[in-house]
Amino acid sequence: MPSARAAVLRQTATPMTIETVQVGPVAPGDVLVRIRAASLCHTDLEAIEGALAVKLPAVLGHEAAGEVVELGADVTELSLGDRVVLSWNPHCGHCFYCDQAQPILCSQFLANGPNAFHFDGRPRLACDGAPMHQLMYLGGFAEYCVVPVQSAIRVPLAMPYDRAALLGCGVMTGVGAAIRIADLRWGAAAMVIGCGAVGLSAVQGCRMAGAGTIIAVDPNPARRQLAQALGATQACSGDQDEAVALARTLTDGRGSDVVIEAAGVSASFRLSVEAVRPGGQVVWLGKTAVNAGVEFRWGSLMQEKRITRSSYGGARPAQDFPLLAQAYLDGRLQLDEMISARIPLEAINEGFAALKRGETVRSVVMFA
Ligand SMILES: [Zn+2]
Ligand SMILES: [Zn+2]
Repeated sequence: MPSARAAVLRQTATPMTIETVQVGPVAPGDVLVRIRAASLCHTDLEAIEGALAVKLPAVLGHEAAGEVVELGADVTELSLGDRVVLSWNPHCGHCFYCDQAQPILCSQFLANGPNAFHFDGRPRLACDGAPMHQLMYLGGFAEYCVVPVQSAIRVPLAMPYDRAALLGCGVMTGVGAAIRIADLRWGAAAMVIGCGAVGLSAVQGCRMAGAGTIIAVDPNPARRQLAQALGATQACSGDQDEAVALARTLTDGRGSDVVIEAAGVSASFRLSVEAVRPGGQVVWLGKTAVNAGVEFRWGSLMQEKRITRSSYGGARPAQDFPLLAQAYLDGRLQLDEMISARIPLEAINEGFAALKRGETVRSVVMFA
């Protein structure tokens, strides 16, 4: 069992501590991944702040890439030295929801999630003999991570680790919202609300799907500028009247064909349904507190609008991660612009403080 330096969350709303943990065992069907890059996502921040309940102590980190260094028995899909991006949605493949092609709702995935251990429900991390939890079946803020083989998706060796890490959550979710959930048509009018990592990825998903118009909505001028550099054709602040008027001006008064919400505040959920055209598609990616209410003007929900809430952009990681990596290598998906900082593990708490302040799109922890 290798030992690994890891950022450990022992108590919510306190800094993570850098500790040495034991990683393993590598059971049949597992792989041991040496993590080389892991980026900081808002879901980790929710766990740190206690908004997302996670059993503690835990190693967070669910947007990570690394190298396969050990194969469990029966693993034939991967080889030592493969470069992999981690997926946080392992699924059984044969339950009611897996049969409906909705792996994100897999019974085993949902049932074992709150335990925050490995997908089989048993721990793969320990500290001084006591089991430790891992967020979203991963625990990427550590030098090593044991995952089921289906959570380790091979990407080309040419894919840099730091940019590969981004594919595992934020980029997949944003691009997937446009391509897999919204089923956006060539030439369509799209609006993306919120230009953090997920929203900026949604902008790129809309661009790659051939949207004719992409309106980026964000109160931060620097984020709007970045969205335009990544493919948005228009940008406006979060003001609802202004954003709705812009969408209608560009569509003969109809409204946007597709609206992707990636901000996670009440005003953005309201804007999404006001700005979409009759019969259009809304995709909600953001989230607010689970017990919070969100008010809508009833009329804004009428006229055959479709609303889908998605956690992972309809991800099919085994298919999508290699395609996303290739899109980056071909220059069709821009990831360099989304990395605000590369930091050592010791700077992880400051990295999350910067994310909370809205100063960074993505900080990436780089492991040696
Ligand atoms: Zn299942
Ligand atoms: Zn995430």
